[in-house]
This record gives sequence, C-alpha cells and structure tokens, in this order.
Amino acid sequence: MSPIPMRSLVRGFKPYTAGLSIDEIREKYGIERVIKLASNENPLGTSPLVQHTLETHVGLAFRYPQAGNPRLVKAIAAHHGVSPSRVIVGDGSDEVIDLLFRICVEPGVNNAVAFMPCFGIYTTQAALCGVELRQTPVNADFSFPWDNLLKLVDDKTSLVFVTTPDNPSGYTPPVAELETLAKALPDTCLLVLDEAYMDFTDDEADYSLAKRLDEFPNVIISRTFSKSFGMAGLRLGYAIVPEELADHYWRVRLPFSVNLMAEEAGIAALQDVAFHDETVRVVREGRAWLTGELTKLGCRVFPSQSNFLMFELPADGPNAASLFEDLLRRGIILRPLTSYGLPRNLRVSVGTAEENTMLINAMRELL
Ligand code: PMP
Repeated sequence: MSPIPMRSLVRGFKPYTAGLSIDEIREKYGIERVIKLASNENPLGTSPLVQHTLETHVGLAFRYPQAGNPRLVKAIAAHHGVSPSRVIVGDGSDEVIDLLFRICVEPGVNNAVAFMPCFGIYTTQAALCGVELRQTPVNADFSFPWDNLLKLVDDKTSLVFVTTPDNPSGYTPPVAELETLAKALPDTCLLVLDEAYMDFTDDEADYSLAKRLDEFPNVIISRTFSKSFGMAGLRLGYAIVPEELADHYWRVRLPFSVNLMAEEAGIAALQDVAFHDETVRVVREGRAWLTGELTKLGCRVFPSQSNFLMFELPADGPNAASLFEDLLRRGIILRPLTSYGLPRNLRVSVGTAEENTMLINAMRELL
C-alpha cells in the first residue's frame, strides 16, 4: 500500500512527552506501591464532594452535556468575580491553549512568543497549527529576561505566553513585572498568563493580575482544575478572556469537549473550599520541607511558588538519568527534564508528607 496521506507537519511532528504512569512502573518492575511525583497532581487525591458528585451523576452519562457548559461557566465566573461572558472552558487547559493558537494566530502571517523552556503544549500546538512560535531562553537562574522577550514581539505578534508560576522551574515573576509587560505590548497582541499553578503561591496578590483584569484589556488568564482542585483525570481547564474572543471560542470549539462528568465535578470542586484550602496548605508545607531536605543532600533547589520543585543534582554524584532510573526501581517516579533541554535537572511534585519522606530516604541512599 502506498503511504497514508498525511500533512507534512504531522509526519515530522514531535509529540508532547507525558510523565510515566503508575501502571507502567508496576508492570515493568513488579512493584505494588508506586509513588508518582511526576505530573504535579494533587497530593490529597480527589475531593470527597467531587467523588460524591460523580457517583450521583454517573446515571446521566447517556446525556450530552449542555452546549457551552453554562452552569459551569457561571460558577467559574462567580469564583473570579467576572462576567460569564468572559469565561471559556476546555478539555483541560491544553484545549484552551490549542484553541487560542487556532483562533488568534493566522499561520504564515502572525506569530506567537514564549520563553524557552516552556510548557510542552505551547510548542506542540503551535507546530500543529503551522504557527511560528518565537522563543528566547530564560536567564540562568530561570528568571525572565523581559527585554529579550519584547525584542521578539512585532506588529504581527498575536499571542505572548507567560507561565506563572513557570513550569518546569517554579519561578514566579512579581506582579509589577507583568503589569509593565502588559503595558509594553502592542494592543494588537494578547498576553496569555498561564496560571495553572497560581493557587499554590504564598500570596496571589503578589503574583497575579487575575483580580485586576479591568485595568488590562489585553490580558488572558488561563487556569485548570487539574492541580489544586485535584481533577487531572477529568480534564477541565478554563480561561478569562476578552468578551469578543469568548464569543468566537464558543463558535469554533467542538460542542461537547467538556464532558458532563467534568462539568458537574468542576461545579462541586469550586464548592469544596475546605479540600482546596487543605491541598494548598499541604503543598506549601511539603514544598518548604522538600526544599530544605534536597538542599541538605547537596542539590541546588530552584525557588518555587508552585506544587513542584526543580533541582539540579550535585556534580559529584550520579547524573539525573541514572538517579531517575534508580528511583523508578524503588517505585518512585520523578520527571527528568531532558525533553526540556535540562539533562542535569529533575522535577518533583510535592506529595503527601509520607511520599516526600520516602523520596528523601531513597535519595539519601542513592546520592
Ligand atoms: N499549563 C501548564 C503550565 C501546565 O503545567 C499544565 C499541566 N501540566 C497545563 C497548562 C495543562 O493543564 P490541563 O490540560 O491538565 O488543564
């Protein structure tokens, strides 16, 4: 048979690299208890209220969700104190990011801009949309060189992506720098602040423009239910965008990409304030503890406001690839950062106190 017909950008496509799954490691090493600290999931699991909601709605699985997910949109809008006409939801914030490229950036004409390394979905979806993604490296300490970013912006730039807290470093720029950036961009360009991890910062007001969007008409805030709300497997993300953009989003989005279970779970998750607060408390406490312990082991830990830490191993010990493998054999999954161009670094999601302790005990033996 002759080759399957395919667009050339699909043939040469470099896919997103996901963290290893618990099942893969169980099977490969025959280990029952596997600790996954690779995908920045919620250490407390799923909120009891979300679990209850899923159970009570499972009988409705035969129904389509209501197009446009209006109840969920209203709940998110109320949570942020914005008009529902500015809220869009997607099948994870991955879908929101994908659709921002499709809606805002004309391939071959316009461009998008981001730092490097960046969250992998920016590069995969830009490539798939045939969009030029211009990138400039972050500083050696993983802070952001704004002047270099601005040098990439021209009158054809439609989107500038800034991830805050950043992934994979955890770096989080002060809000004053975002204000300056938003004002410096041409008004033909939208600034997308990807705040997937913003709930874990010590004080949101120091880092986020989410409560001040009226002052910044060209700013988009993107968030997710995958992290602090513990719903990564249900796939639900959202963004607050200018009304005109929301209007077009609903026209082009696949009509039912946010499924009925995710919709009900999202509404419930917003109500379970106690679970959310406890998650944030456990993450902040674990982050401080892990930072101290990894530092004692000689690692360079990069400051993080997120639910994960990036660290560089001491020069005199094993390299990141071999430590990663040795930890896997003990049933602990971290995230090597080779695919981000950082072969000496690893990323660890903050787990429960017990999981964090098991990781540090294992590393003490291996380093
Ligand atoms: N943005 C960033 C920076 C992320 O790290 C992630 C999750 N890994 C996402 C967006 C996507 O989140 P989701 O699709 O699960 O909502």
